[in-house]
Amino acid sequence: MLKNKVAVITGASRGIGKAIALEFAAIGADLALIYAGNREAAEQTVEQAQLFGVRAIAYRCDVRSFQTVKATVDEILSAFGFVDILVNNAGITRDGLLLSMSEESFDDVMDTNLKGTFNMIRHLYPHMMKRRSGTIINISSVSGLRGNAGQANYSSAKAGIVGLTKTVARELASRNVTCNAIAPGYIETDMTAKLSEKTAQAALEMIPLKRMGKPEEVAKLAAFLASDSARYITGEVIRIDGGLCI
Ligand code: NDP
Repeated sequence: MLKNKVAVITGASRGIGKAIALEFAAIGADLALIYAGNREAAEQTVEQAQLFGVRAIAYRCDVRSFQTVKATVDEILSAFGFVDILVNNAGITRDGLLLSMSEESFDDVMDTNLKGTFNMIRHLYPHMMKRRSGTIINISSVSGLRGNAGQANYSSAKAGIVGLTKTVARELASRNVTCNAIAPGYIETDMTAKLSEKTAQAALEMIPLKRMGKPEEVAKLAAFLASDSARYITGEVIRIDGGLCI
């Protein structure tokens, strides 16, 4: 389904990004996989992806840095020749009530989640525009759609991603490039493993399907959005949250 396509996935060493990488590999995409510092985990994703017979290379790149992202995108383009799919998945949380939230914690979350997404799109935009084809998938969150106490930084960044997604969809539509967002609810990864027992239990009670989602379930949705079956979908935000935000 993604045979002969090249996908760039950020935050692909763990969790949802890794699941997306392996799902894309299973359906034939070659992969440029970006991670922050966890080299061992990134190399493991590469090895697992290669078992599907695709090309996969890991790139250490801090998505917060405009210049580092530019250099990495240049490196990817010279290694693969072109890019069809960009998945902006790298993200962090630094939760706490706004009353005591530090400037650093606000900036860090905004820089990683929102500016990182901007940086990646900014440097692949000219390439996709010239090629007159491409798909961008941004990982937002239900926190960005409805707000979440204790996540002023994170929900602002994730809401920003929604605005960015719709703008990019409008700007690049005439070049046959689509841009959509996925808004997951609670998904079982390192990020949610940090939640206290009490918070996790309270979350489960609010989810109509009464369980957390799996990274592989988000990956299936990303694979659909990246496929030719979704070429008429752009500027959309799709929740995958077990009904949390109904
Ligand atoms: P994880 O904490 O499991 O993984 C985060 C990934 O992002 C890692 O690969 C990490 O790399 C990478 N990363 C972090 N900072 C940077 C950076 N500055 N530059 C490049 N890469 C970076 O997260 P999840 O899989 O849980 O989350 C993935 C995305 O999904 C995030 O955007 C998150 O906000 C979103 N999301 C997650 C939900 C959940 O319940 N899990 C719910 C809603 C949205 P490294 O391993 O090298 O540190």
